Amino acid sequence: MNEVTKKLIDKLYNTSSLEEAEYLHLINNRTPEVTEYLRSLAVEVRKKHYGNKVYIRGLIEISNYCKNDCLYCGIRRSNKLVERYRLTEEEIISCAHVGYSLGFRTFVMQGGEDPYYTDERMCGIISEIKRNYPDCAVTLSLGERSRESYERLYSAGADRYLLRHETADSCHYSRLHPSELTLENRIDCLNSLKKIGFQTGCGFMVGSPYQTPENIAKDLKFVETFSPQMCGIGPFIPHKDTPFRDFDAGDAEFTCYLLSIVRLAVPTVLLPATTALGSILEGGRELGILSGANVVMPNLSPEDTRKKYSLYNNKLSTGAESAEKLTLLKEKIAAIGYEVVTDRGDAIKM
Ligand code: SAM
Repeated sequence: MNEVTKKLIDKLYNTSSLEEAEYLHLINNRTPEVTEYLRSLAVEVRKKHYGNKVYIRGLIEISNYCKNDCLYCGIRRSNKLVERYRLTEEEIISCAHVGYSLGFRTFVMQGGEDPYYTDERMCGIISEIKRNYPDCAVTLSLGERSRESYERLYSAGADRYLLRHETADSCHYSRLHPSELTLENRIDCLNSLKKIGFQTGCGFMVGSPYQTPENIAKDLKFVETFSPQMCGIGPFIPHKDTPFRDFDAGDAEFTCYLLSIVRLAVPTVLLPATTALGSILEGGRELGILSGANVVMPNLSPEDTRKKYSLYNNKLSTGAESAEKLTLLKEKIAAIGYEVVTDRGDAIKM
């Protein structure tokens, strides 16, 4: 291995920090040998903090209505071919009920930005889940809301909030989103969430249209400095009914390489092996875990809605990706030497 590259990896391992230009060096000098070295250190660090535990989150996709028009996303408002749905409060609670009996202790409510879910409605759902399952964590992934709204959701009992920053470069951001959405507001939201006290998650897509290695170096530096409790990194996958239909999907192995880097930059981060990663590569979920990830998010949504929450083509929602097949998931994870646990799986404080 190139001496400079090894020194940089050792610096990252020892200090959890690199300059943006140094991250760029790692991005541009990816070889099988470098990948393996990074991977082995990432696994060591993850094991130090979390042993061989893999945390599961029950994903409830509450609505595919969205007022936004992100160019990459299958449920963007301009996509008239989507069959829209939204779950009722009772349906959401019943998903949590099924999830609890399967062993889930975190429920992630994710959806498009659907104005139907007012603060009042969301707070009602959150407090009901917390009342029924006080030993569970509630994670929200409902996009950009006002600071006051985030405060209300937190007061109602929500513990965590996932809001990927998508890209830390404002020019790149403006190529992925319509002009009413800005990186500035996204970052303001993330800062508010953290200040309020949420365990907060940022993240980005790998291989999104127009993304450059410099953009990714910026993402890595952003993740390092923001120091989130969670970080969602998955490959971009085109959706046939979006303007990005003809772009290539991101690369699964490169995604795993970045997971290893993020594990070293934020050692205690809760890092999912995403559904997108599992969707583009057979065994992608396992490769993610072997690269430093420690979270998987099986789908708890009602079966008939899963196909409708189509962010990208060929999204997995059956097999080990579905909550009902937890035994299969456990077996697959056990086969690579890890253990799926029934645990809230909160982030460890450094
Ligand atoms: N509306 C909320 C938000 O904006 O954070 C949550 C739902 S949004 C659909 C969840 C994530 O899906 C986004 O943050 C984005 O990174 C990812 N996503 C959307 N379209 C995608 C695609 N075509 N390929 C891969 N990931 C995608």
